[in-house]
Amino acid sequence: MNDYVIAIDQGTTSTRAILFDHAGSIVSSGQLEHEQIFPQAGWVEHDPMEIWNNTREVIGQALSKANVTRHNVKAIGITNQRETAVVWNKNTGEPVYNAIVWQDTRTQKIVDRLADGDTDRYKKQVGLPLATYFSGTKIVWILENVEGAREAADAGDLIFGTTDSWVLWNLTGGVNGGVHATDVTNASRTMFMDLETTTWNDDILADFGVPKSMLPEIKSSSGEFGVAASESLLRETPITGILGDQQAATFGQAAFDKGEAKNTYGTGNFLIFNTGEEIVHSENGLLTTVGYKIGDEPVHYALEGSIAVTGSLIQWLRDNLGLIKDAPAVEELAKSVEDNGGAYFVPAFSGLFAPYWRPDARGALVGLTRYVNKGHIARAALEATAFQTAEVVDAVNADSGVDLTELKVDGGMIANDTLMQFQADILRVPVIRPVVAETTALGAAYAAGLAVGFWASLDELRQQWQEDQRWEPQMEQEARDRTYRNWKKAVQKTLDWVD
Ligand code: ADP
Repeated sequence: MNDYVIAIDQGTTSTRAILFDHAGSIVSSGQLEHEQIFPQAGWVEHDPMEIWNNTREVIGQALSKANVTRHNVKAIGITNQRETAVVWNKNTGEPVYNAIVWQDTRTQKIVDRLADGDTDRYKKQVGLPLATYFSGTKIVWILENVEGAREAADAGDLIFGTTDSWVLWNLTGGVNGGVHATDVTNASRTMFMDLETTTWNDDILADFGVPKSMLPEIKSSSGEFGVAASESLLRETPITGILGDQQAATFGQAAFDKGEAKNTYGTGNFLIFNTGEEIVHSENGLLTTVGYKIGDEPVHYALEGSIAVTGSLIQWLRDNLGLIKDAPAVEELAKSVEDNGGAYFVPAFSGLFAPYWRPDARGALVGLTRYVNKGHIARAALEATAFQTAEVVDAVNADSGVDLTELKVDGGMIANDTLMQFQADILRVPVIRPVVAETTALGAAYAAGLAVGFWASLDELRQQWQEDQRWEPQMEQEARDRTYRNWKKAVQKTLDWVD
């Protein structure tokens, strides 16, 4: 019987468990979607209990499909949607409120209050501007709006975690001794972690009014977190890897070294550029974040370009307009026309993230004529992903002083060949897809497996990475420059918009 590592991928739309073998190949997987709860415009929530129940169930699915028992699972890795905040009572295990999801913009007023005119006031310490995106202001919202939460937090009864911590705590026993910890990458998305020391910053916590007792212990991404509790299917199996989803994908793409990058195309898009042991402060609207930390080795940092809406625009075409029956159908519709027909779609549904960071921006569909049909709109929606990515790549190139020469990609949208070709055309560099496209789960498995000696070294992992497909730029330079210019004009319209 072979040995395996299991990765739990607690994502925005679903939770997966994937079993990997020593070659880094997928042996089996389980997956369950969870409900997206939209109580008001701009609010997005998940039910933490549903997420935990799904986690248990998908672990069972993955194990039974491969006919594997816990005895052959050497380690558990966890990766997760990063800034989504859960606050729960450590004595009862009950969340005091739904998880507030990273896309949620309800905390804008809290952001404005804390910023007091300067959204960059903590950027030097934590690498992030004040924005609704990060988990810190979501905790504040819960403390200020959920009855009894402030008192319970002050009494030391409430604890906070992103969904990695929520899953870890439950998996290691919950109220019966659950481990309350997170890794450096997730901690770097709260607004509370000092990038230099990778410890919680007391001054910022005081400004936010968040008791330190609520926060998880910050650990390395690859190392001991705890063992699965006795009631788990994986009981006694060590949990030895945690990475936020984007950092996990970077790890799964074997982009371990300074200068390497990956771009993930999911609900949103996230480009991560490894800056090695150096903390680089962006001059061009990128975030500074932690890439990974293995055991006692030095922290690796990264620059990140986060785009809020890419794949979720395709969901919007499906759910809100009924234009397509499922996400893959957007490609056929887009291919029913030659080009975008002059239409540009800027999906600033929750403002614009990198490189603009404008929460007040709102979406726009511009350049319309009587000629434009639904095929053009589908194409404009796909192109929006590629244009937003190009703006982030421009920022990375400007910050690093060297131009990226290729882009490794992953995520649900890369199944779309039309989009990938257009991406290469707009970037003017090759776009490359690896054989194992589930890089997020793979990265978590790698971090967990490294810690228990299942894999020996980063070099061994690097050798496992294999190219599957490559898209080369084909578009004429003049056509490319013209359409990119038009895109930027369209973005301007969304910035000018005032409600
Ligand atoms: P996440 O991890 O953020 O939940 P995934 O990586 O699973 O996301 O990607 C899902 C996203 O990709 C969805 O938003 C969906 O609309 C989009 N998507 C999936 N398939 C396609 C496709 N063929 N073309 C365009 N978009 C797609």
